[in-house]
Amino acid sequence: MFTERYRSHHDAENRLAELLDPGRGSGGMMRGSPLLRRLFRLLGLKPPAGHWKELEKILREKPAQKNAGVYIHVPYCDKICSFCNLNRTERKGADLDAYTGYLVSEIKKWGGYPYIQGQHIESVYFGGGTPTVLNTGQFQTILSALKDHFPLTGDCEISVESTQHNLGVKKAAALEAAGVNRFSIGIQTFSDRGRRLLARTYSEKKAKEELLALRKNFGGVLGIDIIYSYPDQSLDEIRQDAEMCISSRIDSVSFYSLMIQKGSALSNALEQNELTFKRDIDFDLQRHNLFYKTLTEAGFNLLELSKLARPDRDRYRYIHIQYGDGDLIPIGSGAGGTVAGFPVYSMAPGRRMTAAPNPRYEKYHRILGMLQFGVYDPEVICGELGPQVTDAIGGAMAPLEKEGLLEPFTSEGRQAWKLSADGVFWGNNIAVTILDAAIKAENSNAGKGV
Ligand code: SF4
Repeated sequence: MFTERYRSHHDAENRLAELLDPGRGSGGMMRGSPLLRRLFRLLGLKPPAGHWKELEKILREKPAQKNAGVYIHVPYCDKICSFCNLNRTERKGADLDAYTGYLVSEIKKWGGYPYIQGQHIESVYFGGGTPTVLNTGQFQTILSALKDHFPLTGDCEISVESTQHNLGVKKAAALEAAGVNRFSIGIQTFSDRGRRLLARTYSEKKAKEELLALRKNFGGVLGIDIIYSYPDQSLDEIRQDAEMCISSRIDSVSFYSLMIQKGSALSNALEQNELTFKRDIDFDLQRHNLFYKTLTEAGFNLLELSKLARPDRDRYRYIHIQYGDGDLIPIGSGAGGTVAGFPVYSMAPGRRMTAAPNPRYEKYHRILGMLQFGVYDPEVICGELGPQVTDAIGGAMAPLEKEGLLEPFTSEGRQAWKLSADGVFWGNNIAVTILDAAIKAENSNAGKGV
């Protein structure tokens, strides 16, 4: 049914922006997404002051009274992985005390606004890069500043991304004592061959030992990242990765199809014929479905398109805020977020870009986010978009059900649909198909003055 796959939420965001504003194309920048920072980085632009003054007026005037999250970016890694082109740099020579000071000054600045003081901050997410390049003392300083200056809820999810080699049991215990209650560990694969290919530190044996030790000693939510479809990955390799997720008793796993980003070491090796990789949709689909089915048969549930979790173990509030309409306050070089409807991108000390709110994009973006959870409830979708798109959505969903990508079920006493295993694989395409139909119907009704 589909010939090209949108592998990530960001691919779908890009396509959504084009559908809403065909002339503009890069409309994804309307939300505080990585697209925003990529665009400015690619164009080498100094960000305009934009709409900061308008936003600041709101921040000064009224307490928000809404749920929110904080995203803290630490753009340093000990070593650069072969597939990665995220917003990061090698830490060599970086002054991490100075960076900690910058983060604390930003926390104080944001926390000083009445708007922020009215919020219920239910998630703090440290992403990167590798946040755990910071030492325990630096983390404690940042966490204390957060507690002192932000209205964190009593059960606030405090989540830290890490690689294995800079998060041993001792450091994890110190961070847990300081308030961290969720770790997301980039493992990518346990296979020795795969780990060498992806330039991961540690052997299979060591990666497994470290994960088991962390699980035994850390009481919070423990999730890992796994990549499938790396060059020549065998079905046995992906099966073994899935089985390790089960036997290690982790709480959740994010599983991504390898994206070979231009400029990464892997992409360069392919371009220079140092590596070959025959890959097609079936190669990806087989590995996806084997991983997905192995985990769901072991009791894991779909949490979002690229994430499986044990029942009730990982609430992952951060993603609900990011995909929903809560504010996400961006702190640190390379952090993007949205506050009071304004996309904000923090580039470096003293350099911040703020775009104007775009209610139509926000509305569709919210539905795109909702569809990431794999449930299609026409009543809820039309509740957001209005009854004029009901027929269009029904018309778009029918062939998807016929193809076996959507399966009917009863939700809260009414019929809804959920994604099959193949549907999860094509999840971003399916979401874009539904939104495309809704946008066309909305445009056509607007043309008729409906
Ligand atoms: S994958 Fe993670 S650890 Fe590896 S270079 Fe990218 S941000 Fe750093």
